[in-house]
Amino acid sequence: MTSGWPELPGQAEVVVIGGGVMGSSIAFHLAEAGVRDVVVVEKDELGSGSTCKAAGGVRAQFSDELNIRLGARSLELFRRFPQRPGQEIDLHQVGYLFLLSSDDDVTAFERNVDLQNSLGVPSRMVTAEEARRMSPLIETDGLLAAAFSPDDGHCTPESVVLGYATAARRFGARFCTRTAVRSIVGTGSDSFRVETGRGSVSTPTVVCAAGAWSREIGAMVGVDLPVSPLRRQVMFTEPLPELHDQVTPFTIDFDSTFYFHREGPGLLFGMSDPDETPGFKLDVSDAWLPRLTEAIGRRAPRLLDVGVRTGWAGLYEVTPDHNALIGSAGRFFYATGFSGHGFLQGPAVGEVVRDLVLGREPFVDVSALDASRFAAGQARPELNCV
Ligand SMILES: Cc1cc2nc3c(=O)[nH]c(=O)nc-3n(C[C@H](O)[C@H](O)[C@H](O)COP(=O)(O)OP(=O)(O)OC[C@H]3O[C@@H](n4cnc5c(N)ncnc54)[C@H](O)[C@@H]3O)c2cc1C
Repeated sequence: MTSGWPELPGQAEVVVIGGGVMGSSIAFHLAEAGVRDVVVVEKDELGSGSTCKAAGGVRAQFSDELNIRLGARSLELFRRFPQRPGQEIDLHQVGYLFLLSSDDDVTAFERNVDLQNSLGVPSRMVTAEEARRMSPLIETDGLLAAAFSPDDGHCTPESVVLGYATAARRFGARFCTRTAVRSIVGTGSDSFRVETGRGSVSTPTVVCAAGAWSREIGAMVGVDLPVSPLRRQVMFTEPLPELHDQVTPFTIDFDSTFYFHREGPGLLFGMSDPDETPGFKLDVSDAWLPRLTEAIGRRAPRLLDVGVRTGWAGLYEVTPDHNALIGSAGRFFYATGFSGHGFLQGPAVGEVVRDLVLGREPFVDVSALDASRFAAGQARPELNCV
């Protein structure tokens, strides 16, 4: 995607830093609500950070009530995306299937399912055999049970960014790409000058949606945003003819974190690497292959015979408790640190940040996600992470 606004304006009502799913969703929701001069500054191209590297998974199966609510609300908004903001996003609500092979995980997921059900999410526990019928590529050795929710699924991240950015522009928002924020200067009690490589813009309100790069943006205004970049890789297989008509849920071996979902005639698959260390590493590494091969061999051995077409590395934006940072310090707002589930929360968080900026009450109270929780000893762990 290329820049539609080569010139950075001198003034804006709101400056959003970052043009990923969060920045574009926040810009759309603010512009749609009538905020006239929303300016998004993006150092590269729209979606070029973590968003377009994402596996596209969307779900409401979490352990934390806040994440369940944000995920479920986002699913609703993804479903209506072709009408509002008006973009086809290739949404496949094929369900998420978490495969569980320890008693502790089964107990934890049973608890999660109860909580999800109490919030209207139609998840349920299924037997290992039922899981295999749903996702025939899997082996059930060592599998005790699984958790499934039919509303979950996956869609296309670049289409989501495109949809929000196109509609936000229709409401008057400007997207200035190739525009890196270098510093933020406080110019009075509630005003800022955001200085970029292409000039500066004055504004009463800044929103940081800078993903893995948020810590340095927070530091510019003296706000500690504890977000670390962590490399994650995905791969895409050659076509699997036997998948032809098969509806395949987004399948996750929770123990190893190996996961896969349909991507055209083949599969997308990935896994976390416990040996990975924080850093802005975007080169593809082979270090994860022995562990990945072992996990595939155990849970979906058929995939070992399928060729790999391509793959890439992207960055998770990780916080100490694997939960987001959403809040503000004066008129500096932030929505970041989604720790691997930011794509799926983009629509709901766009609504929440719109309401925080406009002084309205959001549909869900996110005050527990304020970045000050760590200093206050109130970390809020999300346990259902992959
Ligand atoms: C391999 C992989 C798989 C994933 N799978 C999923 C998934 O299935 N489901 C899910 O929900 N999430 C997934 N994620 C996580 C998801 O991609 C992120 O949580 C989400 O994209 C975060 O969106 P964002 O807008 O906050 O950040 P980003 O998309 O990274 O956007 C931040 C933007 O800020 C810009 N920026 C940074 N610094 C500056 C600056 N100084 N000036 C101007 N601009 C700046 C960056 O260039 C970037 O474009 C995955 C991530 C990876 C890497």
